[in-house]
Amino acid sequence: MKIICIGRNYAKHIEELANERPENPVIFLKPDSAILPRKNPFFIPPFSNDIHYEVEVLVKINKVGKHIEAKFAHKYYDEIGLGIDFTARDVQQQCKEKGLPWEKAKAFDGSAVISEFYPKEEFDLESLKFQLLKNDQVVQDGNTNAMLWSTDELISYVSQYFTLKKGDIIFTGTPAGVGKVAVNDVLIGTLAGKQVFQIRVK
Ligand code: MG
Repeated sequence: MKIICIGRNYAKHIEELANERPENPVIFLKPDSAILPRKNPFFIPPFSNDIHYEVEVLVKINKVGKHIEAKFAHKYYDEIGLGIDFTARDVQQQCKEKGLPWEKAKAFDGSAVISEFYPKEEFDLESLKFQLLKNDQVVQDGNTNAMLWSTDELISYVSQYFTLKKGDIIFTGTPAGVGKVAVNDVLIGTLAGKQVFQIRVK
């Protein structure tokens, strides 16, 4: 399986990092080795002094597809989850300055937190509230209605480049409020008010 991540899909997050608003979705991949095993803590890697959380709504692909039209994209997923795209912001900044790929900053071991998945019928994906709490304080408060590209548009776009396969997971982008983690932080993710993961930082 592969993990396809979308960058810059929420206008306020683009502003907070002083990034340019893209003409098309920004795409990058994480390998399956990036997945943080359930119930494991997240260990801050030794190569970064600035690891950021980015909470994101996830969809899991349920069948093979390529060149999927947006109007048919809903047929390619039936489960939704929540995750964190952990990012070594200092390493990413160095990569951006040199025009280099982001993998060292985005695809390292443990960088993909993935909750359990839930039937999409339980949620309104067009207007789905999701939050990240750090040590019981809400630090990211998102709603999918603020996405620049909807989930179906993202599936259509990425499937022009990558054949989607059953089990692939799409990270649909983070809202504003990203920030640094420190040892002993506890991160809790909620989807429509329901707690779906809890991660301790070590
Ligand atoms: Mg992200």
